[in-house]
Amino acid sequence: MTALVMKFGGTSVGNAERIREVARIVQSRQGRKRIVVVSAMAGITNLLFEMAEAARQHDLDRAVQILSKIEQMHLEASRSLDLATPDIIGRIKEIVENLQRRIHGIDLLGELSPRTMDEVASSGERLSSILVAGYLGCPLLDARKVIRTDSHFGTARPKLAAIKKLAALHIVPLLESYDIIVTQGYIGSEDAGDTTTLGRGGSDYSAGLIGAALQADEIEIWTDVEGILTADPRLVPSARTVEVLSYQEAAELASYGAKVLHPATVRPALDAGIPVTIRSTFKPDGMYSTISPGESSGRPCVAIAMRRNVVIISVTQESMTDQAGFLAKLFDVFGRRGVSVDLVSTSEICVSVSLDKSAPLEALTQDLEKLGQVSIARERAVIAVVGDLLRKTPEVLRKTFIAIDGIPVDLISMGANAINLSLIVQEAQADRAVQNLHAAFFEEGER
Ligand code: ASP
Ligand code: MG
Repeated sequence: MTALVMKFGGTSVGNAERIREVARIVQSRQGRKRIVVVSAMAGITNLLFEMAEAARQHDLDRAVQILSKIEQMHLEASRSLDLATPDIIGRIKEIVENLQRRIHGIDLLGELSPRTMDEVASSGERLSSILVAGYLGCPLLDARKVIRTDSHFGTARPKLAAIKKLAALHIVPLLESYDIIVTQGYIGSEDAGDTTTLGRGGSDYSAGLIGAALQADEIEIWTDVEGILTADPRLVPSARTVEVLSYQEAAELASYGAKVLHPATVRPALDAGIPVTIRSTFKPDGMYSTISPGESSGRPCVAIAMRRNVVIISVTQESMTDQAGFLAKLFDVFGRRGVSVDLVSTSEICVSVSLDKSAPLEALTQDLEKLGQVSIARERAVIAVVGDLLRKTPEVLRKTFIAIDGIPVDLISMGANAINLSLIVQEAQADRAVQNLHAAFFEEGER
């Protein structure tokens, strides 16, 4: 059986018009069995969290107000889609009434457990999927029957072997009778049957899991941009789609803030040898990116990524070289505070590490002062030049340094096996640095 998993994110199902477009795209993929995985309508998951939090703070008015907004959005979409039948309205109301009871329960207890939050949060996908399946006129499969997870509510970990069995039990027979089925992203259930979620943004993960379980031909992640771009288009209007990239490149870009998809979520699919493409519902015939198992961009620089809100902590210790175990002691400080260190650079007498600015800087400084003199550089950004062939291309270094000429660099890192060259600069200079680098790698005939 050749199967295609098509995942649509929140903006792709954000209103009636978008849902019609989703249906057009799904129907255009003739000749293949299609499993359509949908997110909640844009903004709904956030509203559900706000609603539950309001109930926990005993602000029932606000909670009820949010719920009624959620209900109206779905009822309105169902009317625009000509779906306002007693059956569909009844199913929407059923979820809304369940949420009403939850609100009162949370208010009564003044407590919001992760288990309850998952049940509440799952409503967004359960609602949007009713509309999408209704409009496509195809069966709706409750993802909780297939996506089996552990009981780590809020960020449940999937159980791959169980999912494979459950997919064979619940999806395969449906696909024998139907060409298209719809199911929810983000949600699953644990052994005892309670609802779990895979963590925020988890719908990509669901698509990857289902694709891997069914050994699909391809997983299409439909979003609002034309794949992964060579830079943030808000900074670099000429940024363009990266057509093919490796898993490592995608992972590296995501860790530096490229928001398109978190590649760890498609790992199960790539491990199963299934390519993942990232496409735009606004331009269904436009450009797209393919992350393919075993493939590479074949480029020294595939994209430039940037992340703000970085600080550098430096510890200077004149006699560091004589002290065996100095670095162990230093990293132990970060470890004990539960802070993950990003880049590291060491010289004879000074160690600098970069961190997110949300780290407990004061506490860290106090601890680190026992090891040496501590200084902090704030308002920094980390920029990464990423490409599989980066290290094999000495040219990259020359180009990089010419491009950022005149912009002070605080820290540089390029690991032995790394596919990225990272630079830390002042936040105020970061935009210009990205623009210059993009020009050097993508706008001067280096394709
Ligand atoms: N609706 C969920 C969220 O907003 C999952 C997703 O969209 O992937 O986090
Ligand atoms: Mg979303």
